[in-house]
Amino acid sequence: MFYKIVKLIIVSLEQENHSSGKEAELFQTLPNGRVKCTACARLCEIPEGKIGLCGIRGVSNSKLQLFAYGRVIAGNIDPIEKKPVTHYRPGTNIFSIATTGCNWLCKYCQNHDISQRRKIEGLEMTPQEVVESAINQGSQGIAYTYNEPSIFIEFAKDCGVEAHKRDIFNIFVSNGYDTSESVDMMGKFLDCITVDFKGSGKEEFVRRYIGIPNSDPIFQTLKNIRDKTKIHTEITDLIVPDVGDDLESARKLCKFVYDELGPSTPIHFLRFHPDFKMMEFNSTPIETLEKHHKIAKEQGLLYAYIGNVPGHPLEHTYCPECKNIAIQRYGFAIESWNLDKNNSCIYCNYPLPILGQPQSIKNKYRKKLRFFQ
Ligand code: SF4
Repeated sequence: MFYKIVKLIIVSLEQENHSSGKEAELFQTLPNGRVKCTACARLCEIPEGKIGLCGIRGVSNSKLQLFAYGRVIAGNIDPIEKKPVTHYRPGTNIFSIATTGCNWLCKYCQNHDISQRRKIEGLEMTPQEVVESAINQGSQGIAYTYNEPSIFIEFAKDCGVEAHKRDIFNIFVSNGYDTSESVDMMGKFLDCITVDFKGSGKEEFVRRYIGIPNSDPIFQTLKNIRDKTKIHTEITDLIVPDVGDDLESARKLCKFVYDELGPSTPIHFLRFHPDFKMMEFNSTPIETLEKHHKIAKEQGLLYAYIGNVPGHPLEHTYCPECKNIAIQRYGFAIESWNLDKNNSCIYCNYPLPILGQPQSIKNKYRKKLRFFQ
């Protein structure tokens, strides 16, 4: 199977990889001399002189090194709604960073030039410089995103600890393919996470299009985050037409979210756009996304959204009590809100579980949004 093949992709360290990085924290030395990386659920067992599947963690002198420590391949200012996150500090600017590499091999990845690059590249930045950049560009938070942040979690932690000293919050945009150890580390610095399911986590889909055996570790990650941390959590689900749009899988996911995380957990069904190795696919029909939204509501989830469809009425937050619009959006921009200073509905006084008061950034980002139409 595809996932078994990719599990064996442990390649030789390139000489240039030795020149940067820092010793990792999440690993165990095995009796056979290999080193087991515990940053993600791949749990690569890596021999001396080799690197793991993500391409940025490898063994040198019997220790696991994070070769991409301090190497930032991308840095952009995004609205938090782009992550997507809608119930945490709505309308704030986020400095979004990434390293190269990834622990998943998604055939549709929009960031494949970053995530599937198996070279250590990028601007050298200390955690202090990352935080300074965020502040200088008017950001209130830092997002670790574009590739899977758990693979560079030690660098993210050092940035995140510095960020907290300067009153800057931290967000992971994660595939959730994590371990108990990486969740423990997240608890030390992370304020918010959006966990991205793809194709509702259906096994056939994730095997064929991502290269993992199943989604079980993602569900476990969510339980670990719930039990061990105070991290605000949102769920996304990329709906891929024909191969990743199974309604029963979506129902199963929504039931899990309702039962294990609670009805107030936001869930976002995202529209797929053809990219990378899946150019022959169409964009997800809007009716398909609406069917997924309907299932979420039937399962009792109070805050379900459709994403990547600017102008759709299911981008807004609705008051669960009186059904009026609580936050009106267009794409990533907040247009208006009907909440008082405590984030209670101004029509019926229902308290919405949103952390931080909405801010409007529509003028700044409206032009960018047109790209997605
Ligand atoms: S982060 Fe995941 S993919 Fe990378 S070396 Fe560790 S276990 Fe392997």
